[in-house]
Amino acid sequence: MIVEGAIVDLDGARPGYVRIEAGRVRETGAIGTDSSHGTERRVRGIVVPAPVNAHTHLGDSAYGLRPPTGTLAEVVGAPEGAKFRFLAETGAVRKRAGMTEALRRLRREGTAAVIDFREEGVRGVRQLRSAARASGVATTILGRPLRRPVLAQELEALLETADGVGVSSAREEDLENRRRIADACRSRGKMYALHASEESREEPASYLEPRPDLLVHLLSATEEDLRTVAAAGVPVAVCPRSNALFGRAPDLSAFERAGVRTLLGTDNGMLNAPSLLRELEFAYVSQRLLHHPVTPGFLVRAAFLAPWALLGHPEYARVQAGSTGPLLLFRLPSEDPEYALVARATEQLIVRPEGRAAA
Ligand SMILES: [Zn+2]
Repeated sequence: MIVEGAIVDLDGARPGYVRIEAGRVRETGAIGTDSSHGTERRVRGIVVPAPVNAHTHLGDSAYGLRPPTGTLAEVVGAPEGAKFRFLAETGAVRKRAGMTEALRRLRREGTAAVIDFREEGVRGVRQLRSAARASGVATTILGRPLRRPVLAQELEALLETADGVGVSSAREEDLENRRRIADACRSRGKMYALHASEESREEPASYLEPRPDLLVHLLSATEEDLRTVAAAGVPVAVCPRSNALFGRAPDLSAFERAGVRTLLGTDNGMLNAPSLLRELEFAYVSQRLLHHPVTPGFLVRAAFLAPWALLGHPEYARVQAGSTGPLLLFRLPSEDPEYALVARATEQLIVRPEGRAAA
């Protein structure tokens, strides 16, 4: 099959074609130069590496009501917020069904991988692991130990099943616990991540010590903080729809100016659909509404390209002959492909080639 129009990857957005055969990119090149001599199915559109949802809490996806209005603590704070009451009161079967449905939705929208913060200790990690097994979505599960101070034994059990640890924030976890967690993750080659400057500003020195593999939010960070984070090279997952539900908006144009390695996430399953296409459009439109526009290319990198290096597959961010990483093909106009991906893409426009396993 041949997709003719535009290619968007780490080398930029450009006109071109991609020939796909049995799930592999067979060749790419300038339009009109392919070697199929008109014998293959041909569609007009855009080819891009499949996106990664870089921040979710799929564990609370079974929550079926509108989230209550209130402060962040009242809605998602531990242990008394609506989220943690829901998790405590809800049985494993229902929670698992919510996770399965959320993963199905991620898969249907072509999201190839997700990085999830899973609360509820070892049990929580196991629930998501079992829901993710047959989902077709590569699920990086960052668990959270329950006991404080953190016990070596619990941490060890957690890291046997989890891909790392995602803690609440530097404010809620003291330096000693953070060090213990980060050391355990590092020695096993696993990921250590945390939320930072969400409700109010925190000092970069606090959330950058010990150095995390991933930060989430930085909603209340100053431009100086963002430059510090950019210089440290730590990627940051932003979740503008979740922030907006609490009446706030990150200034993503400051992230772009500071050169922060920005990723995109959809945050809690109880707040909204885990849809990156919705998140992309909201991010773009809300920044224009706030008179702090970002370029579509910045958001395309955040959703489709930048996360692959964090997941250990930088080569997946390129569309080239022989590449086996998951791709997405959209039946979209290709004159301005980055804008089309950010503002015009919907699940219905995804072209699904035969024999392509991952996208
Ligand atoms: Zn979160």
